[in-house]
Amino acid sequence: MVRTRIAPSPTGKDVHVGSISTGLMNFAWAKKNGGQFIIRIEDTDQTRIVPGGEKKMLETLEKIGLHADESPLIGGPYIPYRQSERLTIYKKYAEELAANGKAYYCTCKPERLDAMRKKQQAEKKIPKYDRHCYTIQKEVKEEIAKGSKFVIRLLIPDTEVTFTDLIRGTVTMTGSNLDDQVLLKSDGFPTYHLGVVVDDHLMKITHVIRGEEWLPSTPKHIILYEAFGWEIPFYAHVSLLRNPDKSKLSKRKNPVWTSEYLEKGIFPEALLNYLALMGWSHPEGKEIFTLDEYVAAFDLKDVQTTAPVFDPVKLEWMNGEYIRKVQNSKLKVQICEFYKNELSESVVEKSIPIIKERIKKLSDYLPLCDFLFHPPSTYAVDMGPRKQLLGQASKKLESITDWSVKSIGDTLMEACKDSGLKTGEFFMILRVAITGKKISPPLNESMEILGKDECLTRINVLIN
Ligand code: GLU
Repeated sequence: MVRTRIAPSPTGKDVHVGSISTGLMNFAWAKKNGGQFIIRIEDTDQTRIVPGGEKKMLETLEKIGLHADESPLIGGPYIPYRQSERLTIYKKYAEELAANGKAYYCTCKPERLDAMRKKQQAEKKIPKYDRHCYTIQKEVKEEIAKGSKFVIRLLIPDTEVTFTDLIRGTVTMTGSNLDDQVLLKSDGFPTYHLGVVVDDHLMKITHVIRGEEWLPSTPKHIILYEAFGWEIPFYAHVSLLRNPDKSKLSKRKNPVWTSEYLEKGIFPEALLNYLALMGWSHPEGKEIFTLDEYVAAFDLKDVQTTAPVFDPVKLEWMNGEYIRKVQNSKLKVQICEFYKNELSESVVEKSIPIIKERIKKLSDYLPLCDFLFHPPSTYAVDMGPRKQLLGQASKKLESITDWSVKSIGDTLMEACKDSGLKTGEFFMILRVAITGKKISPPLNESMEILGKDECLTRINVLIN
């Protein structure tokens, strides 16, 4: 039974798009193999927790469609799924390791550790704990019994650690370079390393698919599995997303929080589709596919190690393709909901055919169509010198009895001829009079939607 997980830490205000990308692979691998996908919250670094971050993260994961089989919200056979509620479990396992000589107690004060590190740096040695307490465990335990603060450290063996990464192949790292990792901190919380290994084991995770930033930690995790005598899961480390300029994805260049894209009116399915293409491509070269198609086609062995580029411009292009595929009636509802049902539904409905090809995300709608809901308050061109022309056009438009795209078009063409202006110039003036802007959806259609009275009012306001 394949079981995968994502284990986000609520140290930001929402889920990072990079976590969605690895989450997708975890989801797909589990579903493809008829297994389960789990969400576990890793909140043991209490100093870095962002209030409200966990709630938002779980909401976003739901919204985007990465539904978990087990999570802090829905529970499951291995509750609790939030590490801060599992402290007694980690303590028990850390003590068990110490009792078996695979870990040891340490009561070194921060001042001693600082001095030690400074000395090692001065001597150009790799900074790591000098095992002072390891050599005096009896005294250390007596001190602890009297109430001294302590941590539990893993005794890292001086061996090579080799493992097969399902994406990167064979990885070898030397134990002698590794520090005797703290497993249990003095506040009783586990470090990430203890928490992740204990939980992945107890929650029966078979495949650990995570970001490459965790690759250097993996030897420590393998040493821990061996110390416990537990079966080691399969590992797959996914390359981190990059900005188009190849720098690490960071909030300074582009939004990194998933909800920021959803709030701009990027569809969850489009964002998933785009993220699915980070480090992986469809075997048939398809760019647009559903989550089900992705699950069917995905294979871990096809994931690339080259750093994938997350380009918000391409994401918007892809979202535009999704907009084109939505039924008009559904798109109307989506636009109305996006704008909190504050727009006239019938106007939105009438405008769909003229904007569907022109918007890439829902938030593009109002900047393009605001003139359909209220008259322009500013004009892109000075209308003062155009009064005579507008007056002629207005008179012609007034005579129309059946207000339709065709009659508006024919009438304006006639008015254009009479004016002696070039078509481009004439229609630009009319467009600005009606919409306030030089660029808008097609004018005749827009005028039909606005209705005869409104169009004439807009023109006459400028004449008077
Ligand atoms: N808590 C880690 C994170 O926030 C998870 C690392 C892992 O998947 O092992 O990314």
